[in-house]
Amino acid sequence: MRAAIIAIGSELLTPHRTDTNSLWLTERLNDLGIHVALKVAVPDDRESLCSTLKSLLSRFPLIISTGGLGPTEDDLTRESFAEALGLSLRFVPEIHEIITRRFEARQLPMSVNNRKQAMVLEGARWLRNSAGTAPGMYLDRSGITLVMLPGPPHEMRGIFIESVEPVLRSRSGGSRIYRRLLRATGLPESALDDQIAPIYAAYPEIETTILASVTGHEIHLATVAAESETADERLGELSRRIADRLGSNLFTTSGERLEAVLMGMLVQRGATVSAAESCTGGLVSKRLTDLAGSSTYFRGGVVAYDNAAKARLLGVPGALIAERGAVSSEVAEQMARGVRAKFESTFGMGITGIAGPGGGTEDKPVGLVYVSVADERDAVTRRLSLPGDRQHVRAWSAQIALDMLRRRLLSAS
Ligand code: AMP
Ligand code: MG
Repeated sequence: MRAAIIAIGSELLTPHRTDTNSLWLTERLNDLGIHVALKVAVPDDRESLCSTLKSLLSRFPLIISTGGLGPTEDDLTRESFAEALGLSLRFVPEIHEIITRRFEARQLPMSVNNRKQAMVLEGARWLRNSAGTAPGMYLDRSGITLVMLPGPPHEMRGIFIESVEPVLRSRSGGSRIYRRLLRATGLPESALDDQIAPIYAAYPEIETTILASVTGHEIHLATVAAESETADERLGELSRRIADRLGSNLFTTSGERLEAVLMGMLVQRGATVSAAESCTGGLVSKRLTDLAGSSTYFRGGVVAYDNAAKARLLGVPGALIAERGAVSSEVAEQMARGVRAKFESTFGMGITGIAGPGGGTEDKPVGLVYVSVADERDAVTRRLSLPGDRQHVRAWSAQIALDMLRRRLLSAS
């Protein structure tokens, strides 16, 4: 089934508030096998609300709105939706009773505006709100289900879980969405898609989405099934075929981040690592220590920005820096070897480059980065020409450094 979500509230169209309700709802709906095909944010304005609902009515069998059910002037969802549907609003004494008691229990004066919250669309079932005053509404009409929920996230969730999910679940026949997340790095997003599009196109029952990311491109697979075995089999087969095609560029078929994959590989081999960083300013060390338990494989890091620091802390010969320049293959290698020796780790990583925006020259432009990974025998050093701004250059340098370590571990096994 396809659904649309209407997030109501003028604040959602400012830079100050994010519509998080629709993210939460999307996850719950997906679990029920319902696909969210459209979502919109609409201001608290009668005309906008009315025309939005009208335009969605003919297109979606399920429409869920959140917000605008409060007691104040700007809460216009009830009136606007009633107008769009050509329905009247009826006063429900029971709701009024509940709201009155809520105020009494808290010894707060009740405003006449709260009477508005006892108004329910003709033909709709009202949904109890145990966390607030505004009840939700559920309307089945001409093959369309309209669910109206209040805006405050905890109220919206409570009503959805208590009163909406059970109904939708019984209608879905037990089917839900199953997902799998694969991650790959070391090739551009377009090349990735060129390689795997012919494979996933043969699985129309699986929705495949590729999201480019500096920490590893994400390949999301999703399928609707009644049984988890059916889904596992289907997703497993496509995952295996994608993995075969991408080879070592793929680093997980079970959603782990690159750091977690590295952790697994290092721990399994009983190997340790240390990092000497210049232009990445500690990003590699930061990522290597993002996971609990990192002390078993991460020995330590040095941010050696200054040439003197590279010499003093890492033992990079001053003459080498003078001769080849701080940003050079030789210096990256000596940083990797030096940090490895200082920390007595299995592997040492060295990164030196020009993150920009200043500091570039004709021979050594902004984006030039050398990354080296050394073990006791030899060092592998790569020269990178990275595009983008400072943050981008730094993030890619760290990613490639970590990926070089992964590939090194792969080839050593
Ligand atoms: P309302 O029921 O429209 O008066 O909403 C009350 C409050 O709930 C708002 O002031 C927001 O802080 C919050 N809220 C409303 N809609 C959303 C949404 N889509 N996502 C997150 N918070 C929301
Ligand atoms: Mg509002």
